[in-house]
Parts: sequence; structure tokens; C-alpha cells
Amino acid sequence: MPPTRRPVSHTDSEDPVQVRRAYRLRAYPTRPQEGRAVRLLNDHCDLYNAALQERRDAWRKCNVRITYSHQSAQLKEIRAADPDGQGRHSFTAQQQTLRRLNVAFQAFFRRAQDTNRHQGKVGYPRFKPYQRFNQVLFVAGDGARWEPANDGRWAYARFQAVGQIKVKQHRKIVGRAKALQLKREDRRWYVIVIVDTEIEPLPPTGRRVGVDVGLARFLTTSDGQVVDNPRFLDAAQARIAELQRRNERAQPGSGNRRRLRRQLAREWRRIANQRRDFHHKAARALVNSCDTVALENLRVASMTASASGTVEQPGVNVAQKAGLNRSILDAGWAQFTRILTAKAASAGRRVVRVDPSHTSVTCHVCSARCTRPRQDTVVCPSCGQWDADVNGARNIAARAGLGSGQASAA
Ligand SMILES: [Zn+2]
Repeated sequence: MPPTRRPVSHTDSEDPVQVRRAYRLRAYPTRPQEGRAVRLLNDHCDLYNAALQERRDAWRKCNVRITYSHQSAQLKEIRAADPDGQGRHSFTAQQQTLRRLNVAFQAFFRRAQDTNRHQGKVGYPRFKPYQRFNQVLFVAGDGARWEPANDGRWAYARFQAVGQIKVKQHRKIVGRAKALQLKREDRRWYVIVIVDTEIEPLPPTGRRVGVDVGLARFLTTSDGQVVDNPRFLDAAQARIAELQRRNERAQPGSGNRRRLRRQLAREWRRIANQRRDFHHKAARALVNSCDTVALENLRVASMTASASGTVEQPGVNVAQKAGLNRSILDAGWAQFTRILTAKAASAGRRVVRVDPSHTSVTCHVCSARCTRPRQDTVVCPSCGQWDADVNGARNIAARAGLGSGQASAA
């Protein structure tokens, strides 16, 4: 594909050269705005739980499946009956909350049909307590409006029933705002601006690689490039392990315990932020230097869903030290894949997902089954010893139809 930009027809709403991107920005509501934002979340939480209750009752009592369109049709009545509560909020935002429940049910039904893969654990969607209902999605221009920063760094997001909130715009936002999400994380607030933007294809590089992600190294490419895990993970892991030890020893209900929990939440948040930056940089480097990137299609659910929680939603007793390292890294792969895919789409690059089975222990030259005497080495009976991650990355490249995945323009 030539590196020139294709002409965009503005009359065509199904324009294929548009991609969707999300920008996450810190928001600074005033005290009264924060109070109203909390009430917004609580009201949406009530709506979510009521809709869930209705679906449960219908199924238990009459074996009837209630659909999203059925629940959406009831909204008008619900709002009319509660003018000072539900009636104050944006209709389309309430529809988004009902859709969110619908997505949870679709995932539930999918898993239910697929029980043996999940060892019989099929979680029915649960009621959410107020403190865990943390986001509401608005359609831009309908109950929410985005006012970008012109030159300075302060932008504004206006939400119905909350007001005009100040937002720190630390990076340039390219494209037209389609949706705005108001989100709470611990005691901080964020606005996520979702935009449609044009693809700006990067010039071809001739480099096409398979990429293996792992625990020991962050990633390894089929042409031999290695990106190590960032060092901050080690330091953060030590701090979290220590805080957790102290937390376990602290008197339940004591001020000391509360303080430790807040410190833990702060540490997790810090890791999540550092890791996100790292993922953006690593993804940017790959997208700039490769035309095609092949990845394993890791089953994200099975990787991140652990009893110990994830970095985004850490359980209180997240770890068992053995699990700590994993939970720090695990949540990362899914996020990295998402970021990489989004950046690739905006740049006109290709990301291919391949079947992950046995990529690490199959010899990439002769396809024989290898032994793995050490974590970082595999041995093929005919070809000899390979670096385990490079071997995996080359298998991934081959499965994606990229040949050996060793072609490089450099
Ligand atoms: Zn071999």
C-alpha cells in the first residue's frame, strides 16, 4: 500500500478509513461536582442492578430471557416515575448502562455453552455495590459535551446532572469526539474521550515479525529483537509485597489498616500507570518499525481472571507472593495487545492473531517436538538448541503466513 493518504469522502458515514481511539485524561471536578458525579454513578448503579434483578426474576420464575431492547423500551416509564432520580440523567447514557449489562449477559451465555473449557465455573452476572460501579458512558453531543483545550492544557467535559468539569489535556486529541466516559479510580476522576480519527498510513518498512510475549522477557521478535520487562516492576513488586505483609498483620478495622490499604491502592495505581506508558512506547516502536505484527491469540479471560484479582481490579489480599509477579504482568498482555492493535489500525499496519498451541515447544525449522531443559531454551532432536522465545516468535510468524519472520529492512 502506498504511503499516501487515501481521499476521505465526508458524505460517507461508513468510511472505512476511520478508526476509533480512546484518550484517558485526568479530570478535576470541584467538590460539588464530585458529589453530583458520585450520585450519577450511584443512580446508574441502581439502574444496572434493577435491570439485572428483572432478568434474574424472569429467568427463575418463567424461564424467560429479557433482552436489551425490552429493557431499553422501559426506560421512558422508569424516568417518568422518578423525575428527581433517574429522570434527571441522560437517556442515551442510561441506554449505555443497560447495554453494558447486556454485554455481561452475552459473555455469560457464551461461557455457559462452553463450560468444560472453564472447569464448570460459569459466573452469573452479579449485582454491583456502589463502590465498584465506577464508570458511565455518554454519547458525545447528547448529555455530554467535549470542549478541547485550544492552546493551554485545560479542556472541559460537560456532563448532564454533573456540570462542566475541568480536564487536564496532556496530549493532542486528533479526531471528532464520539463518546465520553466519566470514570472513577479510587479517589481520582478521569474522562475518556473516544474519537473517530482518520488513518494516517506510515511508510512501509518491509519488516514483518512474529512476537512472543512472556514472563521472563516482555517480548521477543522472530528476527531476534528482545524487549525486557521494565525494571520498575521489580521495585514495585517488592514494595507491594511488603505492604501486603504489613496489611495482613494489621488489626482489622484499625486506622493503620485503612492507611495501608490506601497505600496499596496507590502502589497498584502507580504500577498500572507506569505499565501503560511502557506499553504505549513498546507498541509505538513496533508499529513504526513493522508492516505486520503477528501475536498469539492468548485467551485473555483465562490469563487475567485469577482469584487474586488483576492490576486494574486488585483484590484486597492480592497475593500470595508467588502470584504477585504474575498478576503484575498478566493484565499487561491484554492491555499491550489492545494498545498495539489500536496504534496499528491508526497507522494502516496489520496485526495478525494466531493459534497459540505449542508455539514454544515446536521446532520452527522442522516442526519436531522439542524438549525444554530450561525455561529459556528448547532443544530440537534434529536441529539442536534454540532460544525458547525466538523459536516461539518464529512459529508465530510462520502461522501468520509471514514465512520465517526474519526478513528485516535493517
Ligand atoms: Zn528441528
